[in-house]
Amino acid sequence: MAQQGILIVISGPSGTGKGTICRELLRSNPQLKYSISATTRQPRVGEVDGVNYLFLTQDRFKTMIDNHDLLEWAEVYGNFYGTPRHYVLEQLNNGYDVVLEIDTQGAMKVKDNFSQGVYIYIVPPSLDELADRIYKRGTDSLDAIRNRLSCASDELSLAHNYHYIVVNDQVAEAVQRIETIITAEKYRAERNTDLIDSLCHANCICNE
Ligand code: 5GP
Repeated sequence: MAQQGILIVISGPSGTGKGTICRELLRSNPQLKYSISATTRQPRVGEVDGVNYLFLTQDRFKTMIDNHDLLEWAEVYGNFYGTPRHYVLEQLNNGYDVVLEIDTQGAMKVKDNFSQGVYIYIVPPSLDELADRIYKRGTDSLDAIRNRLSCASDELSLAHNYHYIVVNDQVAEAVQRIETIITAEKYRAERNTDLIDSLCHANCICNE
């Protein structure tokens, strides 16, 4: 049986560049799998169903909740978002590390059930920089931008619930920091009990 993969949960205020970081991380680490979230939000220009999100109607989303098909779900900026359960559990059981890019409410729900996961919070170098990035992204209405910025400081106050804080000043460096975290996590003693057991077992055989 493959060793269980690691669940990597990435959050951070809107505009911190989580999406770009995750894309880069997945491009250079083929052992990582990305969990495509379900959402009731309308697709933005260029977004593709089944690639960026599973774009669902409210009814379809509710059915997924009722059928316990979501590992977690939350209402974020007036829309529903959720993590399809089956894909994540299957990939972890097959030994793949899985990345969830989800908001803080969802991340804390996942943490209640997956305490062995790795929880990473991405922060911008400053709030001015964050505002600048959201305006320049140009994908949201002014109202949506104001709403996202007003949520940002509330969101930041939850950062202490995560295991790691990564500043996204330069994408390549932020990605490298996350890769370092994942590598270190793989060597944690509690993830390697099987290795120790098999070494002890081999020692017992030698002493027989
Ligand atoms: P956006 O609309 O900008 O793509 O995402 C808005 C927020 O929803 C982001 O903070 C993003 O991380 C979060 N989000 C995306 N997918 C999920 C999900 O499956 N569950 C939860 N709880 N949040 C999600």
